[in-house]
Order: sequence, then structure tokens, then C-alpha cells
Amino acid sequence: MANSIQAPRASKKVSTVELLLVEDNEDHAELFTLAARSFSTTRITRANNLTDALQIARTKKVELAILDLGLPETVGLDTLSLFLDSCPSVPVVVLTAISDLNLGEEALKLGAMDFLSKEEITPRTLLRSIRYALERWTQKCKLEDSLADLQYFGSMAAHDLVSPLDAIQGFAQLIELELSKGQSTQEAWECLDLLKKSAHRSITLVGDLHKLSSLGRKSIERLEIRPTSLVSEVCSSLAELIKETKGTVEASEMPAVRGDPGLMHHVLQNLIGNGLKYSRDGVDPVVRVSSSREDGLTVICVEDNGIGIDDKESNRIFLPFERLADSQGKTGTGLGLSICKKIIEAHGGEIWIESTKGEGTRFYFHLDC
Ligand code: ADP
Repeated sequence: MANSIQAPRASKKVSTVELLLVEDNEDHAELFTLAARSFSTTRITRANNLTDALQIARTKKVELAILDLGLPETVGLDTLSLFLDSCPSVPVVVLTAISDLNLGEEALKLGAMDFLSKEEITPRTLLRSIRYALERWTQKCKLEDSLADLQYFGSMAAHDLVSPLDAIQGFAQLIELELSKGQSTQEAWECLDLLKKSAHRSITLVGDLHKLSSLGRKSIERLEIRPTSLVSEVCSSLAELIKETKGTVEASEMPAVRGDPGLMHHVLQNLIGNGLKYSRDGVDPVVRVSSSREDGLTVICVEDNGIGIDDKESNRIFLPFERLADSQGKTGTGLGLSICKKIIEAHGGEIWIESTKGEGTRFYFHLDC
């Protein structure tokens, strides 16, 4: 499996916050810089006016803007609105000349993460405001992501549920027609079989969606998991598929990891199940589960000898409801891998693949970064 690599990179923990200070008054800027200097976790870029501030925010890395509302081009909340309209992805702490709670409240309503009056700036209040603003911003982004996910899943689920339900209705009508002829014909039995398959698909889809939606609410357990024993349990759940596909599942001795046993069972079941399901014609599937140590992490690999995945599809498969052209004829909802990705990410880990079309695929994942 030489090519088609999508390697993960553990995300680097950022320790220094890149601040943009938008302040035209030299004395106030000095006061701010002095207060910020007492803790070493910030790097400050200064802008004297809004035009320069917007230019910097668009071209440089800015993690938080500290915005004075009285600038040469604009004063008051208009300054904030103009900044947020142009740079919606930069969190803002508003600086006000005097401690006006109403103004502060209006600024928060417009989208500021916090407000600071210049009278009150001390190293302590500044540090607190920066940290709270960054945390609020993180929570806001998470909430927006969940909302976008929910809207996306909602509309896709509605769309995907309609087709098997339509089929159920159609097959039921055909059975009715056949039975009205007064005898149970071969066609009626065939329709009944197709109806059962469509019902099964709807049930699986609803089950997968339920799994996905409950993930957001469930807190992740951190228990010791022995992946080798978990693979044995998964094999029992997949006994029917293993028999049907004439497949083999092998697991090497793997060290214990910490995670949520129920969720990890789900991940392994999906990956092993896919390895059995997406096999090549005439080649009995063999799925191997093993582990390695990389950068202090236990990386688990689920390898199959199946149809493989084209390099350019390697990101698409983790998106909900995406099924590749060669999955035609194999049952599935297109949700399995997106659920796996969400579970792994909820554990602070990553999942990625290496694959060669026509030879097989390796799914790799680790839990904590
Ligand atoms: P499902 O299997 O229900 O379609 P998944 O989210 O598990 O949904 O997988 C998405 C798609 O990725 C599958 O439809 C298939 O096209 C492809 N895929 C997943 N696993 C494999 C694999 N081991 N080998 C080849 N293709 C795979």
C-alpha cells in the first residue's frame, strides 16, 4: 500500500495569544501594553485606526482583537459593527473610555466577547478578560458548529428517510394488488422481501442518526479498554456478516487505551464491518487489527484486503451520507464513518486512512492528542 497517504498531524497547543490592539491614543496603548507585559502569554500587534486594523486582521494571525470604540474614522458601537462585519472570525473585546454598563451590554449583544473600561485596566482584569473572551469564543464556535451539523443532518436525514419509506409504500401497494388477485404469488413474496429490506434500511438510518445526535449530549467515559478483547466482542456482534462474507478477522495483542468502551465498540464494529463488506469479488475478506506507538500515542490500525479507496475520495468518506460509487449493491447508510470520526474527535483523537485502489485500506486512529 504505497501511495494515497493522508497523514494526521497532532494539533500543536498554542501557548501565546496573538492580540491585535486597536487604539489610537498613545497613552492608553502604553497603559494596555504595560498591563499585558506582566503576563508572557500574549503577543501584541498595534493598529492606530480601523482601516489598518482590518488590514492586519485579514492578513495576519489574530486570535483576539482589543478594540477601542473611539477611533479616527468612527466612534461608538459603529466601530464594533464595522469590525465584526469585515472580520467575523476574530473575537473582539471592546475597550471603552468609561465604565458604562449599558454600552458594554450593547457591545455584547452585537457580538463582542467582553468589554473593558480603560479606568479598570490592571494586569489581572486584562488577563481575566482575555481568557474569558477566548473561552466564550470557543464555546460560541462549538455551538455554531453543532447547529450547522444539526441543520445539515436534519435535512439529509429527511431526504434519505423518504426513499426507503416511499419504497415500503410502493411494495405494500404491489403486495395488496397481488393478494387482491386471490392467491399469494411469487411476485408478492418478492415484494415482501424488498419491503423488509427497505424497512431495515429505515431502521438502521434512524438508529445511526440517534447515535449521532446522542453523541453531543453524552459525556465521554475514560475507562481502560483492552482493544484485543474489544475486537473479540465485536466479532461476536458481527458473526452473521463474517459468515455471510466468508471473512476472517485477526487481532494482534494491543496495549490498553483509555476511552469510552461503548463508543469504541461502535468504532471498531464500523471499521471491521466495512472491511468485511467492501471486499473484492472473488477474494475472501481478511481484516487485521493491530497497534503501533507513534509520538507517545497508541495508534490502532484496521486493515482490509478489499476494494480500496481512491486517493481523492479519502476525505469524502468521512462526510455524512457520502457513499462511493463502488458501494452500490452493499447495504449502508453512509453514516458509519462520520459517526466514527465524531467519536474519535470527541475523545480528542484523529482518524485517517491509507489506501490503494484494488488492494485494500488501512484505517488508523488514536484517541487523545
Ligand atoms: P456505509 O458503509 O453505510 O455506506 P460508511 O460511512 O461506513 O457508510 O462509509 C462511507 C463509504 O466509504 C462507503 O459507502 C464506501 O463507499 C466507503 N468505504 C468505507 N469503508 C470502506 C472500506 N473498508 N473499503 C472500501 N470502501 C469503504
